[in-house]
Amino acid sequence: MALTKSQSESTGPTCVSTSDFQHDGLYTNRRLYVSENLNMWSFKDIFTKLGTHQQCLAFSEQQGLILKEKMCPKHHTVMNISYTTGGKIFGTFRCGKRTRKPGGCLRISRKKGTFFENTVLDIVHVYYLIYAYSRGWSYDNVIFEDPYKNNKFKCLSRNTISDWFTYCKEAVIIYYLEKLNTFSRKIGGPGKIVQIDKSKFGKQKHKKGRYNEGHWVLGLIEDGSEDLRLEVCPENVTSSDVIIPLIQKHVEVGTTLHTDSWHAYDHLSDYGYMHKKLNHSDPDNPNSTVDRKNMQRIESQWRVAKRFLKLKNFNDDNFADLLIEYLWRRNIIKYKKDAFLEVISAVKYVYKVE
Ligand SMILES: [Zn+2]
Repeated sequence: MALTKSQSESTGPTCVSTSDFQHDGLYTNRRLYVSENLNMWSFKDIFTKLGTHQQCLAFSEQQGLILKEKMCPKHHTVMNISYTTGGKIFGTFRCGKRTRKPGGCLRISRKKGTFFENTVLDIVHVYYLIYAYSRGWSYDNVIFEDPYKNNKFKCLSRNTISDWFTYCKEAVIIYYLEKLNTFSRKIGGPGKIVQIDKSKFGKQKHKKGRYNEGHWVLGLIEDGSEDLRLEVCPENVTSSDVIIPLIQKHVEVGTTLHTDSWHAYDHLSDYGYMHKKLNHSDPDNPNSTVDRKNMQRIESQWRVAKRFLKLKNFNDDNFADLLIEYLWRRNIIKYKKDAFLEVISAVKYVYKVE
């Protein structure tokens, strides 16, 4: 099944306002209350609350993914929804005013411009796939757990799963990048500590005669915060010309920075930072040293991030996107959000209906 979505051309984000996003608020390390857990979408909820076309349609209207009503631009009257012609599930907006055209003045499919435009797949499966994506399921798991297989709908193909996971991922990346831009505030500040480390994703080895260069990533995290920043080093360069502007982009002047002894960090104190280096003995300045445990938070980030990217089979083309997806998934876990509703928010943001 060939599905094409040109969301970036036709329905990409238009104007950005902070009302599109909810701020994460302060990170609190606590377990969710029972009531909070009950409010989260589970697999069972997907099956019982979004198991029929009618339920999915009502949910789409309620979430603002499709329009409930539309005014005729010519007559300024509310258009009817017809389910008889064309889109039988979603329906078609039709203006009731009589004109010379047979069937009324104007007809617009309710799918037009929405996430569901050009959908061949039934909407019940679409929501099932949104849920599966939100939970990070593998294709095998999606096929295996599909509650509708052998039933009223056909079994999902790997291509279909891949298509819809891609649509979800694209929406999530646009949404999350905009959200990061909207709330971008520097981390650190006087009296605060930010740990900084760089790490290479992808091994340097000859594989089938191909040299895999890998990707250098700079990571920054403030002590006592879960606000992890990851930056792909432009052109894969890790010299001070690249590293220092990245640090300045994310960290307030006056912050104490913990780094290893990589030479690109050497002159950070010239840029208004207090700088402490790992295993670096300077008899003139004994306070300029930190030991390994003061670098642990940033160093411990790499293993998890690398595992995620490896599972996703990253390559040169998708690396930066996957890193954003990783941060988005990490944010959901750290801030204990409802993953399914987070994808819905992203879809709503990218496929604005009006
Ligand atoms: Zn009309």
